[in-house]
Amino acid sequence: MQYDIIIGMEIHAQLKTKSKMFCSCANDGEDKKPNTTICEVCVGHPGTLPVINKQAVEWTILTGMAVGCEIADFTKFDRKNYFYPDLPKGYQIAQYDLPISLNGHLNINDKKIKIIRIHLEEDTGKLLHPKNANYSLVDYNRAGTPLMELVTAPDLSSAEDAKNFCQEYQKILRYLNVSDANMEKGQMRCEANISLQEKGKWKKSNGEIKPLNNYKLNPKIELKNINSFKAMERAVNYEIKRQTKVLNEGGKLIQETRGWDDNKGQTYHQREKESAHDYRYFPEPDLPPLILTELKEKLRKKLPELPQTKKERFITEYGFNKIDANFIVVDKNLADYIEKVISEFRAWIETSDKSKKTQDEIWETHRKKIIRLISNWLINKLGGLIKTKNGDISKIKITPKNFAEFLALIFQNKINAASGVKILEIMLKQGKDPSDILDSGDFEQIQNKSALNQIIEKIISDNPKIVEQYKNGKVSVIQFLIGQAMKETKGKANPVIVKEMLIKLLIS
Ligand SMILES: [Zn+2]
Repeated sequence: MQYDIIIGMEIHAQLKTKSKMFCSCANDGEDKKPNTTICEVCVGHPGTLPVINKQAVEWTILTGMAVGCEIADFTKFDRKNYFYPDLPKGYQIAQYDLPISLNGHLNINDKKIKIIRIHLEEDTGKLLHPKNANYSLVDYNRAGTPLMELVTAPDLSSAEDAKNFCQEYQKILRYLNVSDANMEKGQMRCEANISLQEKGKWKKSNGEIKPLNNYKLNPKIELKNINSFKAMERAVNYEIKRQTKVLNEGGKLIQETRGWDDNKGQTYHQREKESAHDYRYFPEPDLPPLILTELKEKLRKKLPELPQTKKERFITEYGFNKIDANFIVVDKNLADYIEKVISEFRAWIETSDKSKKTQDEIWETHRKKIIRLISNWLINKLGGLIKTKNGDISKIKITPKNFAEFLALIFQNKINAASGVKILEIMLKQGKDPSDILDSGDFEQIQNKSALNQIIEKIISDNPKIVEQYKNGKVSVIQFLIGQAMKETKGKANPVIVKEMLIKLLIS
């Protein structure tokens, strides 16, 4: 049987506001001693009253705008009633029928994924189950942390889509600086709803799957406990396979919530899923509804450039290729750093180019080469060095100005690649100016042909067998001779020039 794979996402993100959602407790309790960042409000003592965190509302509006949502003029909070030990009030304050943001979309793999809503709620506490103990512990530090929930239509159709959607949303949250959105730390929790339906037997209407004729829809399974993008992809793929197998064998699927066991690489049954009315939602009587008309107009002006737009701009304005542009925009700090380097480099080349061209013409003349250098030196080499040190571009000692100066040395062939790597390492460690490092060290490229000539002649006379091989047509052995020359000059020779000179001497 052929099935369509239908996936919808629910993503919870903790907002990094200073205080909690409905009280003035610090919102940084997760690394603190249990039950130290709590008060009567967030643990739900009778007679206490919640107060709405304005920052959290503003950030939910901004996030909504970032994914093209309509922002409600009128919104309210509701009580979602259920009992669980990590929920001290016996209900969670959430939003039911009038969320802050509605009807947005994100483009993933050239598909438009509809976002049904983004609403605001409060996080719960945390249960701890000590090993071999016959009791559980509860930590309420997290209770009341502002939590933003995004719900998509079932518009995704593969594990890759699901992963890419989460990645793109994480980028947006980080660009807006509203959440650190670290999946490993539970700051961003992605759940996938997956169902398999027979081809041609269903249709989508208003973001819901509806059966055609007498077809009975297969239930959707909710996947939880996924704490990395990789796990997301694996879990969804596993679930697609599992459901296909059950259906093909004539078995029945139940509507359930399944967890993901990353070690076993399997999903497992957690509980049967409640439907919405079990929660007895009703408007929160202790909070006023909000009118957002003025606030949203004010916020619209604060929306920064978002990752997808930035990516397009890096491609069209600078000429980065798609792979590099994708890599750059994952980290807003990296993108900012690169733009500063480009602008420093541009300033330098515009003053050092003595031709009568306009500034734009000068830039256009050298743009391709400069972007290639940035791609090679900043993204690959520096990126690699930072990565091996588990670093972060925003904390490195190399200023954009120094990096631009470093690129200028390469651009002018003053240093070769081998020296470049060494200088870059020193810059990274000491934060020094590259010209100072160059002056103090022994890095300047040997361009002088007469100095090189002596070295090359010696190499030729030292390696008669290799020379013989070359003359007999095995031209690839020249690499060995080039290598000898580089060794002899401690990497300071220009390998292109060495090759030219070698060939000249060998064929003479
Ligand atoms: Zn509190």
